[in-house]
Amino acid sequence: MQEISSLKGIGKIRSEQFLKKGIKTVSDLLNYYPRDYEDRSNARDIADCISGEDVLIKGIVLTPVKENRIRKNMVLYTMTVGDDTGIISMTWYNNRFVKNGFKMGEEFVFFGKINPKSRKKEMINPLYERVGKEKFMGKIVPVYPLWANMTQKVIQSAMAEAIKLKGDIEEYLPKEVILENGLCSIDEAIENIHFPKSFDDFFKARERLVFEELLFLQLALMYKREENEEIKREPFRDIKCVVEFLDKLPFEMTNAQKRCTKEILLDLKKDKPMNRLIQGDVGSGKTAVAAATMYVAVKNGYQTAIMAPTEILATQHYETFLKFFEKTDIKICLLTGSTKGKKALYEKIASGEIDIIIGTHAIIQDSVSYHNLGLVIADEQHRFGVSQRAKLTNKGEGVHTLIMTATPIPRTLAFILYGDLDISEIDELPPGRKQVLTYAVGEEMRERIDAFIDKNVKLGAQCYVVCPLIEETQSGDIKNATDLSIRLSKKFPQYRVGLIHGKMKASEKDDVMNAFANGEINILVSTTVIEVGVNVPNATMMVIENAERFGLSQLHQLRGRVGRGNEQSYCIMFCQGTSEIMKKRMTIMCKTNDGFVISEEDLKLRGPGDFFGTRQHGLPEMKIANLFKDMKIMKKAKASAEKIISADKALLNQENQGILRKIKEMFDDNIALN
Ligand code: ADP
Ligand code: MG
Repeated sequence: MQEISSLKGIGKIRSEQFLKKGIKTVSDLLNYYPRDYEDRSNARDIADCISGEDVLIKGIVLTPVKENRIRKNMVLYTMTVGDDTGIISMTWYNNRFVKNGFKMGEEFVFFGKINPKSRKKEMINPLYERVGKEKFMGKIVPVYPLWANMTQKVIQSAMAEAIKLKGDIEEYLPKEVILENGLCSIDEAIENIHFPKSFDDFFKARERLVFEELLFLQLALMYKREENEEIKREPFRDIKCVVEFLDKLPFEMTNAQKRCTKEILLDLKKDKPMNRLIQGDVGSGKTAVAAATMYVAVKNGYQTAIMAPTEILATQHYETFLKFFEKTDIKICLLTGSTKGKKALYEKIASGEIDIIIGTHAIIQDSVSYHNLGLVIADEQHRFGVSQRAKLTNKGEGVHTLIMTATPIPRTLAFILYGDLDISEIDELPPGRKQVLTYAVGEEMRERIDAFIDKNVKLGAQCYVVCPLIEETQSGDIKNATDLSIRLSKKFPQYRVGLIHGKMKASEKDDVMNAFANGEINILVSTTVIEVGVNVPNATMMVIENAERFGLSQLHQLRGRVGRGNEQSYCIMFCQGTSEIMKKRMTIMCKTNDGFVISEEDLKLRGPGDFFGTRQHGLPEMKIANLFKDMKIMKKAKASAEKIISADKALLNQENQGILRKIKEMFDDNIALN
């Protein structure tokens, strides 16, 4: 389709600005949906304007624009406007363009907020258009997500041009799907998602677009599942050998761990590759389940690999596994970016001398080739893209895949969203775990919290202090790790305070982490690098600075670093600000330790758009669908997808070609469709 530079008003500079958001063609632009709408359809009488509201009024300019310099860099422009019912002042800050924009007696429409702080009726920084020349007044107007130097007006104008120019967009959904689900056409949907004539039009447009997005997601997953079904492999001969491993395990597995292990082992007995997801809250003991599975793989003569998202985590797995497999002849290696003597290691991996490979992304590099790889495990899956997983699986033929996630989502949602995977849940914590007592506090509690840290550390506990930033930035309010470690070192000269953050070299991080794990550091100040997986049972305290900066799931992940032993653990969240959403988050954190509940609440609290914007959930990023609130449409889309796939497994039929093309466009990077 045409480049957006073909649109009126879009020159080279604007094109480049759009390109920053990946918008290159008119079609890309049309697929950039509003995040909200302003109802500028009906003008309000000035007498009826209520303070604090966004309103549209139509009025006559009664005075010239007055210029008023109130301080350096601050010029106020004001004028008075009236209609049959009253008068109102219009005020702009530093907008010299308004100076010559009006003539007395002319009629304009204005849109803006009625200043709640002003005693007289006043609209602040209103948008305006001359009556008779309205473009974005007198209608419902889209509000787009902005970026860098982009403004609403530029996007709105470009979009209006694009709509004019687009012609009839060709329908790609099969007729039957449209009819059965009562959807509007894609052409209508695109027009009305940007410039709906009524909110009813908008709802219809949105429903169509949400439906197709969810339909494509479902279809892609089902298509992939079908593809997986085709692959055959040799079943594992012996899965009973798992008991040898369980006998050596220093603890008894929980029932949930046992059930999960059993589900996995039954997969391994089949003649097709496993594709299974393990959902388990932080601390539920996923590592032991992984190790049991890997033991069975090795005993069946296969090599097996586990990939962790960070060096720290890979190293920790390595140490755990060395202990688990201490009294066996199984050979284990660690392979990360900073591993020395890689070449020799590669040879040992390729020859099959090594049975279990533990590492980071380093283990999927092209230079690593495996010997009879039978099982791969991806830990803390949300950090890996689907394509990285695929890269690991492709290291062998018909490889069994296990994915472990510590950000569990409710089962109903998981079923739909991980349609290409079988799901197991570890919904039980090892015995003896106590709830992490969690408190949200303000700055006024600083002294008391310091005293609390002192008391606990004196008794031998270790403490994490987590903050959002590494070094000082402009925003002075936000605690940074470096400053904080200096403050704590001064405050507690008797304790050893460590610092760890993502900008440190891997080897430095390892040193600090090891020192903390060995109890040589009492208080560890860190950024979110410790978010995933790290296990130091003696650390029973966590202080989170600027907790308002973290999402719910992230807070839960962080908190999961404590409460890993049998001692009572504490999590103190310092937070600032008064936002409702922040208060809700804090309340939920203080109330529950259950990861399933927390992620559900997290999904509810996020607005549309940023819903899965964060990769915390490892779920696909949705453009318009709200996976939680659009459950009803989701069910319809799922039913529709099932029907399509059952009639045409490979999407070869003529009427499904549009769908196939769309799925490929959407998921080319994510889902391996051929
Ligand atoms: P996660 O699911 O977060 O990866 P881990 O596998 O790291 O959790 O396990 C957390 C801690 O619980 C580890 O110290 C582990 O040894 C311990 N653990 C796991 N399973 C059990 C169990 N069944 N009984 C007692 N402790 C267990
Ligand atoms: Mg783990």
